[in-house]
Amino acid sequence: MTAIAGDIAAAVADQVDWMETLLTELVAAPTELGREEAGQVVMCRAFADCGLQPQDVRLDAAALRAHPHASPFGWDVNAKRNVVATWPAASRGGRSLILNGHIDVVPPAAAELWQSPPYAPRRDGDWLYGRGAGDMKAGLVAIAGAVRALRLAEVALAGDVHLQSVVEEECTGNGALQCLIDGAHADACVIAEPHPDHLTIAQVGVLWFHVDIAGEPVHAAYAGSGHNAIDAAQVVLGTLRELERRLNAHPPPPYDTLAHPINLNPGLIAGGDWTSTVAAQCCLSCRLAMYPGTDPRTVQNQVEATIARVARSDPFLSAHPPRVRYDGFVCEGSEVGLDEPLVTVLSHAYSQVHGAPPALRPTTATTDARHFVRSGIPAVCFGPRAEAIHGIDERVSLSSMRKCAEVLARFILNWCGEAA
Ligand code: ZN
Repeated sequence: MTAIAGDIAAAVADQVDWMETLLTELVAAPTELGREEAGQVVMCRAFADCGLQPQDVRLDAAALRAHPHASPFGWDVNAKRNVVATWPAASRGGRSLILNGHIDVVPPAAAELWQSPPYAPRRDGDWLYGRGAGDMKAGLVAIAGAVRALRLAEVALAGDVHLQSVVEEECTGNGALQCLIDGAHADACVIAEPHPDHLTIAQVGVLWFHVDIAGEPVHAAYAGSGHNAIDAAQVVLGTLRELERRLNAHPPPPYDTLAHPINLNPGLIAGGDWTSTVAAQCCLSCRLAMYPGTDPRTVQNQVEATIARVARSDPFLSAHPPRVRYDGFVCEGSEVGLDEPLVTVLSHAYSQVHGAPPALRPTTATTDARHFVRSGIPAVCFGPRAEAIHGIDERVSLSSMRKCAEVLARFILNWCGEAA
């Protein structure tokens, strides 16, 4: 054991102020879809602060659209960048590693319900509040903090460590995919999503679909002579719920331990243009999960068949069939083997810090891990403890961020090895 291996806790503790300042700066940047750049500027500086040379990986719309694993997107991505940096190995013989996190956050859901404004970071004891604090800016900070602690301790590694701050994890995963298109590779990947006390070894796939439903507008006083698109959307949703029930009836392992692994979420609805007019149109946007191993095309077919069945049962909808569009996630799930060296070595590092190994769990969410797994790079999620992600008063535990950095620092040493 080298001097640093015996004192990683102290090396990481020395980075706590730097890490907490960085987290505060990141949370203050409202990096919602299309506004990620303010966060990438901060991450660029953070990687430089680690003594590394940050580089841009620009999103290339044409390359993404041509790629079989990309999700469709109807918005402009050409001004977007991932920020990456490599800590190059000082000698050969070790294993290489990607440490990945996403800079994008979801909108605040209902800003007026927050105790303090979502993009005004607020500390209360061990908790740091703010949209994106847990999902997953604290994870990005833990990655950078681990690397900074080791580098300031003058550790030299026998394998490359690649840091990635990517865009669009919350809607397509195309940011992480662009890194792989541009040639990123390593022997393993850890994504510091807020999955504390366990490693996430399986994840569902996710489909976003948008249903455009037509109506026939008339004065509300004579509503019976028209066709209300909002009423029709409700019928469509009811039938989709039946599909959801069927998909949850017989979950395959490892999802057979969960009561309701497949969630259908109607996340957005918009329709009509006047309260006293029967709604002429409605758009219903949903997110639906699928088990690892399911081809997204299969789920698309199930959704389309379900909606076609609704349409056939209604004369107006038969003549004006709802249209299903795809914009955003069309992605399959993924799994890694429990005996993967990544799992055992990261579990060991976790045990060194926490005194007991982490649980190994599936998640009912998707993450960028699938892209790495599909590219032959085993990938798991492990990160700080967060509460209320995608909800109100999202918060992250600062002590868990430090512990996460400590686990990652130990893992980097064990995985990459010290240079000879
Ligand atoms: Zn996330």
